[in-house]
Amino acid sequence: MKRILIRVLIALSAIILLLIIGIAITLSIPVPAPPDVPEKTATIFIKNANVVDLRGDSTLRQDLLIENGQISNMAVPGALSVPEQATILDASGQYIIPGLWDMHTHLSPQFAPQLTLPLFTAAGVTNIRDLGGYGSYEQKKAWDWQIRAHEMVGPRIQGIGAVFLASLQSEEQAREIVNQFPGEKPDFIKVYNAVLPEYYFPLVEAAKNKKVTVLGHKPRAVSAIEAAKAGHKSFEHARLFLFECYPGAEKLRQSYHDRYTGLSEGDGRLDDTRGLREMIDTHDDEMFLELVEVMKENGTWFCPTHITRKMDAFASNESFRKDPRLKYIHRLQRMGWKGDADGMIDRYPGPEGQKTVMDFYKKGLELTGKASRAGLKVLAGTDANDTYCFPGLSLHDELAELVKAGLSPAEALRAATIYPAEYFKLQATHGSIANGQVADLLILKNNPLENIEHTRSIQTLIFDGQVYSREKLDQLLDGVEKMANDGVGTVHYLWKEMK
Ligand SMILES: [Zn+2]
Repeated sequence: MKRILIRVLIALSAIILLLIIGIAITLSIPVPAPPDVPEKTATIFIKNANVVDLRGDSTLRQDLLIENGQISNMAVPGALSVPEQATILDASGQYIIPGLWDMHTHLSPQFAPQLTLPLFTAAGVTNIRDLGGYGSYEQKKAWDWQIRAHEMVGPRIQGIGAVFLASLQSEEQAREIVNQFPGEKPDFIKVYNAVLPEYYFPLVEAAKNKKVTVLGHKPRAVSAIEAAKAGHKSFEHARLFLFECYPGAEKLRQSYHDRYTGLSEGDGRLDDTRGLREMIDTHDDEMFLELVEVMKENGTWFCPTHITRKMDAFASNESFRKDPRLKYIHRLQRMGWKGDADGMIDRYPGPEGQKTVMDFYKKGLELTGKASRAGLKVLAGTDANDTYCFPGLSLHDELAELVKAGLSPAEALRAATIYPAEYFKLQATHGSIANGQVADLLILKNNPLENIEHTRSIQTLIFDGQVYSREKLDQLLDGVEKMANDGVGTVHYLWKEMK
């Protein structure tokens, strides 16, 4: 018996040793390198394009001259002389829109230069606002510099959540966080659900004095109207109007306060199936319009990320969960997504729960449409890298959601071009197609004003004068797929995740 035990121990030790050696060898093999950056083309002449005029909701036949990454001239076809050294792109019968912005992303925890960043580029996303939460601020800053210097493929990271604030314990802590804010403009503090009003308002006050931006989830125990008045720059996620605009809103905020301060265990939750049902059924239009007005007056932006609510509603849907684009998501991340979607089904169980989250998602769409018609500017954002939010690719899904919400295709496109540029006060150089604008352009096969799905028909991407042909964009997608399913990469990913 004893001898058997010793043999088993020896065998086990050998297996563990082999495993360690195997991991060590695998870690010594480098992961695939990030994709190559195309050379910047000094002079580009785009011939005979249908330029989509997003302000006027129409198209206009134009030739475009791009010099050193900037649109230097535009005119009716044939009116401009073509410089001798120009690279000519014939866009006859095709449509040009500005590069797209995703205003709510989370750069992937691991290997963003191989996975997330090229995926954004492949989908025509040229600028992002990253809400943080994963990875270091300094690392993201460094990537942004490399991207702007044409050393790395990816979108510019126009704003970064330098501080991700899950909760706060005191007023002093709130002021200290503002005083020690590591970022520079336009980077910001992102607040999350559990920040209590007694510390949230001192935080926003201190931030205002230091000209630091605060944005993010509306903290659950804080009134949205008060937050907008205090200077919260943008509210994230479509649940905002449902949580805040029904007779039970005050009680809901109080229940969160009790939960976060340990006064209640969280039983009698007001955001369970019954709670969501109440928000939908007793939604108060007057409260809603008042909140919209306060947001307009205070310049508060709204980034509904409808595809996150869509995930809630479709968590149990077989084909939704078999999205073919999963091949671009790292296999370990996919496992996390699966667990998250399963958790959603458990939280809202049975046909009653499923119907409620579906109605909640649809009501959110309806309210975004109404808010937009009431003059509130909506931002397109995806929560990229959150469950079933595919970096870049899902921005096109969100545009379709915005049209479903009742926005015109032009208004949906403004939410992903002109408005984000305005948000960052960069409208003089970004977000539209005009002389003096940075040349971030998508050449599409079909007209997106006729059908928003046509934003997916990208033939060519121009990013700051770099030309990505369809072939090059497909190469980016292939590279991401390879990295997402690479065995060596997986060991590296796991290793980094454990560190
Ligand atoms: Zn997020």
